[in-house]
Amino acid sequence: MAAATVLLVEDEPHLRELLRVYLEAEGFRVIEAADGPGGLESARGSAPDLVILDLMLPGMDGRDVCRRLRETSRVPVIMLTARSDEVDRVVGLELGADDYVTKPFSPRELMARVRAVLRRVEDRAAASEDGATRLAFTDFALDRRSRELLVRGSAIPCPPKEFELLWMLAAHPRRVFTREELLNLVWGYDHFGDLRTVDVHIRRLREKIERDPAVPRLLKTVWGVGYKFEEELGS
Ligand code: CA
Repeated sequence: MAAATVLLVEDEPHLRELLRVYLEAEGFRVIEAADGPGGLESARGSAPDLVILDLMLPGMDGRDVCRRLRETSRVPVIMLTARSDEVDRVVGLELGADDYVTKPFSPRELMARVRAVLRRVEDRAAASEDGATRLAFTDFALDRRSRELLVRGSAIPCPPKEFELLWMLAAHPRRVFTREELLNLVWGYDHFGDLRTVDVHIRRLREKIERDPAVPRLLKTVWGVGYKFEEELGS
């Protein structure tokens, strides 16, 4: 696999240099930019696999760079923020950043975040390229091409996000997904919605496919973690 390219947008030369050394040691190709407009230009021109974006930048701050970038690109972004308060965190994520690291941070911590974000993106690509077009179980079947949900032989209307959520779970029996994972996989990285969105959709799906929605035998809650699909055959 070709080396992934990381665009590093940071105005502080020593920090930029330090991070470049770490990133190159991890095997990444590194492109640098020292201000907002330069970062945006590089992001558009060189199609990086990931962007590390400082929040406080001359010219155009990281918020604006991230917002402008999101208009045309879903490239993963890790924000470097100066303060640990919740405001920066929320602002960073609301802009569509995938993760954030608060200064001061250790380069090792940032490298771990970079690897984690890239892995998530790969997982997501693999999940959406899953070759299967039809999943069939005792009580229901999903057809991805016709977007049809059949429950015990009858076609049941199923909105796109519910369909995707059910597909994601049913395509990976017994695998436990966290709510956050499901939000990322089904709603996308641009969506930093309420985790309860997942719960609401699970409830609607249970009403459609479970024989008794109050005692789910297919879409199981894993307490304190999230959800899994498991075909528990009736006794
Ligand atoms: Ca800065």
